[in-house]
Amino acid sequence: MTHASLPPGATIGILGDGQLGRMLSLAAARLGLKTHTFGPNEDSPAGQVSAHHTQAAYDDEAALARFGAACDVTTYEWESIPVRAVDVAGAGKVIAPNLTALRTAQDRLLEKQFLSALPGVSVAPFDAVSGRVETLRAAVETVGLPCVVKTRRGGYDGKGQAVIRSADDIVPVWERLGQFELIVEGFMTFSREASVVCARTADGDVRAYPLTENVHRDHILHTSTAPTDGDDGTPGEIARTIVDALDYVGVIGVEFFDTADGWVVNEIAPRVHNSGHWTQDAGCTDQFEQHIRAVAGWPLGDAAPAWPVQMTNLIGEDMAEWEALARDPDARLHLYGKDAVRPGRKMGHVNRRK
Ligand code: AMP
Repeated sequence: MTHASLPPGATIGILGDGQLGRMLSLAAARLGLKTHTFGPNEDSPAGQVSAHHTQAAYDDEAALARFGAACDVTTYEWESIPVRAVDVAGAGKVIAPNLTALRTAQDRLLEKQFLSALPGVSVAPFDAVSGRVETLRAAVETVGLPCVVKTRRGGYDGKGQAVIRSADDIVPVWERLGQFELIVEGFMTFSREASVVCARTADGDVRAYPLTENVHRDHILHTSTAPTDGDDGTPGEIARTIVDALDYVGVIGVEFFDTADGWVVNEIAPRVHNSGHWTQDAGCTDQFEQHIRAVAGWPLGDAAPAWPVQMTNLIGEDMAEWEALARDPDARLHLYGKDAVRPGRKMGHVNRRK
């Protein structure tokens, strides 16, 4: 499928109905492009702002086919979207990022195997577990203690994970997670977590935003600060190696641990990334516009921020601060249109010049 550029007025199909789809839709609208979003939730963050919205389940193939027929290109904003849903929606048209990237990022074992085979890319030592507690024991032996057990699929923000510090932990962890397909990773010692958000076009132009330092609270991203020191260009080069190897089109998030032995890739997210939200208020092309440009076959914009920025997520009850933040002339407030506040739910974010 050739990746022709879409003219203003064309429709970008976005599978997913959350805040990322919302911000992608807003960016597309600025460029005169329409979005058609798809997801199961009523009054969703994305559905509130897109030109068209289909409210349907991800296994409703008739709805997916109708949605696909109404769109000029298909993308997605959630990495756990069933591959089959994207395949049905995108049949006969360009799907960006491609399904290989999606499949790879959805399975921590495939992801680690792919990344560890790339030149200049390091990952934590890892081993697969296959259905019996003996294989968990063997994987722990191979990787060494301490180690982290993760579900191969569906885990995010630390969910579906357990740390094994001694052999005594193996059976309890198996009782909790043994029903899932698992991977064991070495427990990395790192000084900080960081990420590179980067975009690639179909003809191979790559633009990486500067290295961003990420601080988590309760396993959820709290702040992202960019640029950050200690960027010798290596993380950006690693991100480029990854997107080139995947023949990737769109924006990707590459998450790193900063270790004494150098940059170790934790995972990749085949979509716009929470650690790239600062780009909206940094005087450069933001990640949402960059993704829309890439999937629409347009040239990429400038990814160099004009000033340093810190993003703070508004999680759950942080939403109560909205009035104070709205009064604060230094705070650029972004709210996602979610009415129900729940603990751990991402309600919005705020960007401040540093
Ligand atoms: P993940 O879901 O893989 O992003 O992991 C969630 C968080 O758990 C990461 O942001 C790290 O803080 C921590 N973590 C994940 N994998 C490892 C590891 N191999 N060693 C140490 N900490 C980890």
